[in-house]
Amino acid sequence: MDIAVIGSNMVDLITYIDRMPNEGETLEAPSFEMGHGGKGANQAVAAAKLKSDVMMVTKVGDDLFADDTIKNLAAHGINTDFTQKVAGVPSGVAPIFVDTESNNRILIIKGANQYLSPEDVDQAAEQLKSVSLIVLQLEIPLPTVYRAIEFGQQHNIPVILNPAPASHELDFDYVCKCDFFIPNGPELEILTGMPVETDEEVYEAASTLIEKGVKNVIVTLGSRGIIWMTKEQTHRVESHKVAAVDTSGAGDAFIGCFAHYYVQTGDVLESIKMANAFAALSVTKRGTQASYPDMEQLRQFTE
Ligand code: ADP
Repeated sequence: MDIAVIGSNMVDLITYIDRMPNEGETLEAPSFEMGHGGKGANQAVAAAKLKSDVMMVTKVGDDLFADDTIKNLAAHGINTDFTQKVAGVPSGVAPIFVDTESNNRILIIKGANQYLSPEDVDQAAEQLKSVSLIVLQLEIPLPTVYRAIEFGQQHNIPVILNPAPASHELDFDYVCKCDFFIPNGPELEILTGMPVETDEEVYEAASTLIEKGVKNVIVTLGSRGIIWMTKEQTHRVESHKVAAVDTSGAGDAFIGCFAHYYVQTGDVLESIKMANAFAALSVTKRGTQASYPDMEQLRQFTE
């Protein structure tokens, strides 16, 4: 097994609206779509699309979304031995309202994701020992994230932490035990309390994390590209110029692809460049997982 994603899954319930209904009003909306999402699942699918062997430790509810979520992961070749159902609890869902100008209003109900516990990490221990990389986000309880980080450290398995959504409760003693810390700009701003408008500001904010002992800080900055900082060096990678139609899930695309190439090559800068291309392709299509390219499409784009 190459990669273990220990994290969330959600079902996106996307309603396209002309306008939001007022209180007490019932309104007909033009269209509706369902999609598989959740930061953990998105990152797992991105890596699996590039043919990494991925296992996912996650929890679904016991509703009609549960089997569909498991089916979706399995259809991408993701190992679901540790994707468990929780009785009496809904699956994670995200009702999303998109208006005619593509503005989003999103609600997140974590549902079963809140039940992914440190014991679930322990239960998967035998299989987890065989992976080359652990990938984590913050849509599951923090104690579970911390247990996974400790597990990685004990077994010499590198860990990527994507601090999304940003939480002030995140304990930086654990962040320092991770090999890669990958926030986007707004997350870096929330976590450091520093502005990130200009590159200089991003360098300053990221360097406060490096001073705390974080090993690799990789900041994704949307169409502005990526800044990678370590104690010794700083790299700036420009984003690709593409016609963006939907940037949702771009950060997850970046992380899943970075994970894939890092496992394959161990070359951080090369993995950032491939992830930059993969994420750029993903913003040229609508949806999250549905917008992720496969290896052939990525190859054509980067040649
Ligand atoms: P998130 O989706 O978490 O907000 P970002 O917006 O930083 O993350 O996007 C992640 C990566 O996706 C960027 O670092 C970049 O490589 C790529 N990306 C995002 N938006 C664009 C865009 N408009 N054009 C080209 N690449 C983009």
